[in-house]
Amino acid sequence: MHYPHLLSPLRAGHLTLRNRVVMGSMHTGLEDRASDYRKLAEYFRVRARGGVGLIVTGGIAPNRSGWVKPFAGKLSRRGEVARHRLVTDAVHGEGGAVCMQILHTGRYGYHPLLVAPSAIRAPINRFKPRALSERGIRSQIDDFAVCAALAQDAGYDGVEVMGSEGYLINQFLSARTNQRDDDWGGSLENRARFALEILRAVRQGTGPNFLLVFRLSGLDLVEHGITIEDTCALAPKLAAAGANMLNTGIGWHEARVPTIAGVVPRAAFSWVTRRIRAVSPVPVIASNRINMPAVAEAVLANGDADAVSMARPLLADPDWVNKAAAGRARNINTCIACNQACLDKVFRNEKATCLVNPLAARETELHLTAVERRAARRIAVVGAGPAGMACAVALAQRGHAVTLYEREAEVGGQFRFAREVPGKEEFFETLRYFSAQLADLGVQLRMRTSATADLLTAEKFSAVVLATGVRARQPAIPGIEHPKVIAYPQLLARERQAGASVAVVGAGGIGFDVATFLTGEARPRPPLPDSPQAMPEAASLLPAAHDEFWREWGVDTSIQQPGGLSSAQQPAQGRKVFLLQRKAGRFGAGLGATTGWIHRRSLLQRGVVMRGGVSYERIDDAGLHITSEAGAECLAVDSIVICAGQESVTDLQPQLAARTIECHLIGGAQLATELDAERAIRQGTELAARL
Ligand code: NAP
Ligand code: SF4
Repeated sequence: MHYPHLLSPLRAGHLTLRNRVVMGSMHTGLEDRASDYRKLAEYFRVRARGGVGLIVTGGIAPNRSGWVKPFAGKLSRRGEVARHRLVTDAVHGEGGAVCMQILHTGRYGYHPLLVAPSAIRAPINRFKPRALSERGIRSQIDDFAVCAALAQDAGYDGVEVMGSEGYLINQFLSARTNQRDDDWGGSLENRARFALEILRAVRQGTGPNFLLVFRLSGLDLVEHGITIEDTCALAPKLAAAGANMLNTGIGWHEARVPTIAGVVPRAAFSWVTRRIRAVSPVPVIASNRINMPAVAEAVLANGDADAVSMARPLLADPDWVNKAAAGRARNINTCIACNQACLDKVFRNEKATCLVNPLAARETELHLTAVERRAARRIAVVGAGPAGMACAVALAQRGHAVTLYEREAEVGGQFRFAREVPGKEEFFETLRYFSAQLADLGVQLRMRTSATADLLTAEKFSAVVLATGVRARQPAIPGIEHPKVIAYPQLLARERQAGASVAVVGAGGIGFDVATFLTGEARPRPPLPDSPQAMPEAASLLPAAHDEFWREWGVDTSIQQPGGLSSAQQPAQGRKVFLLQRKAGRFGAGLGATTGWIHRRSLLQRGVVMRGGVSYERIDDAGLHITSEAGAECLAVDSIVICAGQESVTDLQPQLAARTIECHLIGGAQLATELDAERAIRQGTELAARL
């Protein structure tokens, strides 16, 4: 049996879960409108069909004061029950179990009705909360109980009460946000009263045959957060009050320590769950950066947890569990922790999907329907970057005969560069996934082959997809041909090395990546996708890999300090790096909302000098000459790395058009100015769905 710990059943409350994979709560934006619940039901249906043991929905508020934002998902009235039936019927129809998460945002609510234990504004919110009165607290507890009872009526197997991530219940638990001097503040007993009374009220209202999960903050990662002693003292009390399972939450939303981004090592926080598990009478769930079966299995085999929670990895691949069970982990479309198409979209008030899986949360809109045998076509895809690989795989899945041409010796296009950047090693997994799919689906792969118009004509393809990507832009700076100058692909492909002092021209996503590469710790190069060894999954659980992270971000792993923070230690600075842009204003403004701050802070900690509003005058033996508000100066650097964007490679298009060959342009070849892997993979998949 593959992954024996992960795939063994688990008794939780009145249920026996078919395995230990919990799909963690994640907002998709489909929870907010009744009209979207059919889409939401389909989204969960395919994940239940994919074998998940227990699904937890995105957060649903028990009343308006608990809304994430105005008119967000809420369950407080009987009229709101029916839409949830669609979800529970869909999951049960596939033999799955589903809990609804009850989420009260407290001071994180993005609306003027917000409430909290004390009237203290969150640093990430412009709205200030109103402190709850004693009566107000009682009314909130009643609303949780009503919400849970309605969820039970809607057919849910249970609820998860959100008590972590700095939301209302967590705000009561922590002295940082609870400065009350009545029965609800002060001692742990008082601060915990709100959580415990909610659990008792929910249990009383729903009876014993209803799963009650409490998401407990294992590590707040904010000043004056809760201590591990308090957390461990609380765990048995939560169980006694009715909780059947404890899920682990890590870090408040206002924390300045990354908790889910790619820079966080895999399963980095499972040791926190281990501490809770040691004192918990009920099963305990580990979460954060668990994305592959071997990692999950290691967490369970190590005794850190009884189950693992994953949200984004199941967005990326709804068949994750079935593939693991079949010993086909190489076919798992791995979540690369980029947040680009899921959380960043939700922050922009858009519906979530997934960069590596554009079908996610669009199951009713985008289908890869198999073509009839006689309708199958011979199609060429030129370029094996993200757009070309996604298109070739989706075409082959539909039953077309596909030939994929790639000029280089390796697939991946610009993705090959990303995986070289410290903190982006996960990008390797996407290359591994696509390589496995291409091989298993029988796509004819022609590596080191330039697809010319003559070759494509001779092969008599019925259609050609041009995913020829981009070439790095060479800006017109006098002296650009100087030997000091390195184009970013040369650097990241390790064809050339930079010196001890470097100027990076251009501070877009690639400029940031290059500055990270230049200042990061050298890590072993991940193996090539066609190499027999996959990325060493379990090796990334080694404590040494984590120590670097704890030091850089200031996490006190002994949790002696409230909140688990310690002072961050700057990594040794081997290289002097200048990151430059012509525009004035904030650096990295175009980076993702949930990860941009991590990249900015990390580079500043490493001593990278960011200079905006510069003009590039010339490059010569002395270095890079610039002018800025401060006047003219020469940056006496050894190397100048150019990260000034890209231009589309479309040479083949007019040639094929002249021969009247059906031709489709996707990805960077279609639009280089907004080169974006999410768009590339989506375009490739959408085109394949139409052809
Ligand atoms: P980009 O984001 O467009 O940035 C290009 C940079 O080059 C800009 O900072 C621009 O700033 C500068 N530039 C443009 N033309 C120039 C010229 N002629 N001379 C000098 N400087 C010039 O492109 P990218 O950094 O190559 O990234 C490509 C895509 O990948 C983007 O969509 C990016 O978002 C994405 N990406 C994202 C991430 C991420 O972490 N989310 C990481 C990597 C890549 P000034 O004009 O102000 O100088
Ligand atoms: Fe994971 Fe990125 Fe997909 Fe989000 S968008 S689920 S982080 S791969």
